[in-house]
Amino acid sequence: MARRIVAAIGGNALGETLPEQRRAAGETARVLGGLIQGGDQIVLVHGSGPQIGLISAAMTGLARRDPEHPMAPLSVCTAMAQGYIGYDLQNALGEELLRRGIRRPVVTLLTQVEVDPADPAFDHPDKPIGPFLTEAEAREMECRGNPVMEDAGRGWRRAVASPQPKRVVELESIRTLLDGGSVVVAGGGGGIPVAAVGNALKGVGAVVDKDFTAALLARELNAQVLLILTGVAGVAIHYGKPNQRWLTHMTVPVAETYLSRGEFPPGSMRPKVAAGAAFAKSASGRRCVITDLAHAEEALRGQAGTTIA
Ligand code: ADP
Ligand code: MG
Repeated sequence: MARRIVAAIGGNALGETLPEQRRAAGETARVLGGLIQGGDQIVLVHGSGPQIGLISAAMTGLARRDPEHPMAPLSVCTAMAQGYIGYDLQNALGEELLRRGIRRPVVTLLTQVEVDPADPAFDHPDKPIGPFLTEAEAREMECRGNPVMEDAGRGWRRAVASPQPKRVVELESIRTLLDGGSVVVAGGGGGIPVAAVGNALKGVGAVVDKDFTAALLARELNAQVLLILTGVAGVAIHYGKPNQRWLTHMTVPVAETYLSRGEFPPGSMRPKVAAGAAFAKSASGRRCVITDLAHAEEALRGQAGTTIA
């Protein structure tokens, strides 16, 4: 039976500008193309922290210039990011598969995820979005009522609430497409966060971490591997400190011990290790591999990156 992989590519690895994103989509497609040629079924989830911030800033500029335009909710910004990032990935994957002589449909699915309005995450915005700011710019943003945070030693950014995804609304459509042989891009930006109000699903002002959405999809689709592709080759403890040490393998209890000690920063490495440990724990034979695009194939063979199993 074909191996089923849910791959998650970081919004930060997709670059900061449109041309950078096209290049990154091409690199992502080359790596995934190799896996698909080897017989793997792929669902690709992408992040969009930086991109949602840019879209939100552009939409805020529009709302300031023209009172006809209300402020775009974060949920709408995520929908927009799913569209234009999905387009680049779908386009690049299509080209890459043709180059390899593989005839396989590629499809991007707008995806909503249900969140709990009572999720405690709403009281503690801890997901960084948008471009990096100087401390002065961050203070100014804070004065305008937007919380800010320091992002893993890289600079200041706007902070938003990041609740857990409870349910992928379009799950059955994703499953049908995957079973039918399509390569599916879904759950982009962690999915569009919605809350159920009667029969309606209402957009919520939050950004779900795509690592948790990818893990939820991997569980629901009965994948064997959750492949988290990010900006570093693996997970380290004491990251950025003189005693930093890269981890090649973590058992679930070891990962849980590190998490309970607060070893990994929220909004960057913590969600990856938490999502990976939860997935690895959910059934036997499931593992999570955290690495960058350059090491993906080696890491899947257990020869690079960090495996949680
Ligand atoms: P993505 O966009 O892929 O989700 P994030 O920026 O959210 O990426 O998280 C990955 C980043 O977390 C890495 O690029 C690195 O800068 C940072 N990081 C923080 N702590 C660690 C750690 N312990 N080990 C490795 N990377 C870490
Ligand atoms: Mg992230």
